[in-house]
Amino acid sequence: MSNLNIQKIRNDFPILSQQVYKKPLVYFDNGATTQKPQVVIDEELKIYTHENSNIHRGVHYLSEQLTQRYEDARKVVQKFINAPHDHEVIFTSGTTESINTIAFSFGEKYIHEGDEIIISTLEHHANIVPWQMLCERKNAVLKVIPVNEKGELLVGEYEKLISTKTKIVAVNHVSNALGTVNDVKRIIEIAHQYDIPVLIDGAQSVQHGKVDVQELDCDFFVFSGHKIYGPNGIGVLYGKEKWLNQMPPFMTGGEMIKKVTFEKTTFNELPFKFEAGTPNYVAAIGLAKAIDYIQNVGLENISTYEKELLDYATQKLEAIEGLKIVGTAKEKVSVISFNLENIHHYDAGMVIDKMGIAVRTGHHCAEPLMQRFNIEGTIRASFSFYNTKEEVDKLCDAISTVKQMFG
Ligand code: PLP
Repeated sequence: MSNLNIQKIRNDFPILSQQVYKKPLVYFDNGATTQKPQVVIDEELKIYTHENSNIHRGVHYLSEQLTQRYEDARKVVQKFINAPHDHEVIFTSGTTESINTIAFSFGEKYIHEGDEIIISTLEHHANIVPWQMLCERKNAVLKVIPVNEKGELLVGEYEKLISTKTKIVAVNHVSNALGTVNDVKRIIEIAHQYDIPVLIDGAQSVQHGKVDVQELDCDFFVFSGHKIYGPNGIGVLYGKEKWLNQMPPFMTGGEMIKKVTFEKTTFNELPFKFEAGTPNYVAAIGLAKAIDYIQNVGLENISTYEKELLDYATQKLEAIEGLKIVGTAKEKVSVISFNLENIHHYDAGMVIDKMGIAVRTGHHCAEPLMQRFNIEGTIRASFSFYNTKEEVDKLCDAISTVKQMFG
């Protein structure tokens, strides 16, 4: 049993006390984005009200103060994922930009005709399309690790795919569509036997439990601030310095340079080489605040409580006739994807919405995964530590109404 005071936690998130369609909001779309605690909202307001100034450029008071706060935020992220050095933490706009940066930069230097890149069937489009386009540019080959009926990666098949032709492996830690937790440590170990670097898309893992990039020994780890109770428009690209130092910059412009003449430009050192232009310093500081917040709640408390919610919801939903859960992996985070027999997921989603419950419907930006299961999409309920069993009960009631309406 977890020892979190959920009511107290809910009071930290102002949006949760609101009504939609005159019903208390039940927010089960946390996989898409999480709500923000008041401390994060206040932090951003405080910066714009009292502290705003562009960073790294000025010698004046506000600029120096805020530059320090931005660099402190980087250190908070470094400690949070246990990166060896703060200059290995690059701020981006989100997971999508982080992956694109790696695909372009690593791809420019290391991918050549006939090389192979391995991803998995479980990937979000953000970890498919950048690699697919890289393969098109370089005449390289994209290989895909298959999944079983439960939505678990087939590690044996991965071992067959990997070879000396493989130049990078990019997989998610947790599937956004099914909630599967992948054994990324094993995937990394196998790749490292061939000296192949591995990128872990942590967009759906960092908010559910402790991540230690040194323990995983991943070469790159990426995530988005808005999915971990932080602001929008900020994300993280962690990379081992041995790779980042070798890789060329992706975006170019202000701040990422050492010296510019019309003949030649030399580049700044890490992390600035990968942070061209004015960064979203307000959101970076907001992200640090969000990390502080969840660390105060405790990542272990969060995983324990969310597991309780997952087990409760799985049991309740499984008992509903005609409801089929898609993704039944042994290791899952608090995400349940399901379909209702003979009812389109959009129709169901619209009715559930009218009961004040926000769920996601569709392909969850994972179309190839939906194709693997021969479905167009699912209804997805993704739970956070601020959700309750009573809210799960409301979802079950809403599903009964859907069945009555369309049955
Ligand atoms: N990767 C995964 C696993 C995701 O779930 C998402 C978003 O849902 C992304 C990447 C893209 O994240 P963002 O839109 O914040 O860049």
